[in-house]
Amino acid sequence: MTRKTPKMKLLQQISLMILIATPLLASAADPLRESLIIRLSIDESLKRSEVVFSRSANPEVYQQYGATLVVWGFRSWKLTGEELTSECRRQCDLAHDVGARYQARVELDAGWRGWIDFDPNIEDSVCKTIEGKLLTYPFWTGIYKGKPAYFGCTNSKGYQRYLLHQAREALSSNPDRLMIDAMVVTTKASRGGGCFCDACVEGFREHVQTNVSPDVLKNHGITDVSTFD
Ligand SMILES: [Zn+2]
Repeated sequence: MTRKTPKMKLLQQISLMILIATPLLASAADPLRESLIIRLSIDESLKRSEVVFSRSANPEVYQQYGATLVVWGFRSWKLTGEELTSECRRQCDLAHDVGARYQARVELDAGWRGWIDFDPNIEDSVCKTIEGKLLTYPFWTGIYKGKPAYFGCTNSKGYQRYLLHQAREALSSNPDRLMIDAMVVTTKASRGGGCFCDACVEGFREHVQTNVSPDVLKNHGITDVSTFD
């Protein structure tokens, strides 16, 4: 039997569309655009009889409990490239071998160390306060390669590239589903005074330009939206 690729499965089962970075959709020519639309099926929703594993396990444990779905697929922050693909595929196959569906994953906040490895210009994509201070996740307190757990902004191109990189790695394991974990974490940057990064300020200008009438702008003394911050 011909095995369907993850992309074929996802596209055939259209019902729920998850956007992890809606602002990207503004540009139809953006090569990232297509990849950010991930479709899952209601046919794949949980059943009452589902035996869900929150982590990968060994086949004996899957069989003992009659696992039907692994929802928190394997992800290593140490392995990369072929090594990572190979291990992800092995973990996925272990679940499939006992008849369980497998969900690979993309991490936002929990992937902070991997982001430092991935992006040499990480500071360009971090959530900022209005004074320009870089925000860090309050719940990840470690230091890695001399850098803190930077709060990623999903409006920034650099962070989007990292998330797509993870998605490609995860999909290379031929999973049944893809989880985008903590996909709304950037909104929590407001608690720390964010987000006033360049991407967000630029997006705000575009919002004002499109949604606020010239009369209102004039009444507030805003004569040039392109420099308004
Ligand atoms: Zn931002």
